[in-house]
Amino acid sequence: MRRSGSRWRRFRRLVLETYGPVCCFGTACKFGKLAIDLGLPVNHPAGFTVHHLDPLSLGGSLLDLERARPAHRRCNSSQGNRPMALSAWTSHDWPTS
Ligand SMILES: [Zn+2]
Repeated sequence: MRRSGSRWRRFRRLVLETYGPVCCFGTACKFGKLAIDLGLPVNHPAGFTVHHLDPLSLGGSLLDLERARPAHRRCNSSQGNRPMALSAWTSHDWPTS
């Protein structure tokens, strides 16, 4: 499946609405602040991307909300194809604002 089209855009919005604009990498975040500025250009290193907990190359599903989280572009791309442990972020206190 290609990452384009209305289905993918709707999914990105759904990920944002579900988890908020907060980088899922927590203490491993490259920017030191977890908030993702949604006003940035899509190709900005700190811009919003959808991170897949199960790498797509390893059989992860592109549109699986349960296994997708918001992340900065740079944090997401530096993760590579290593599977990520959920425990890295589940104990984090999410900002409510
Ligand atoms: Zn980050």
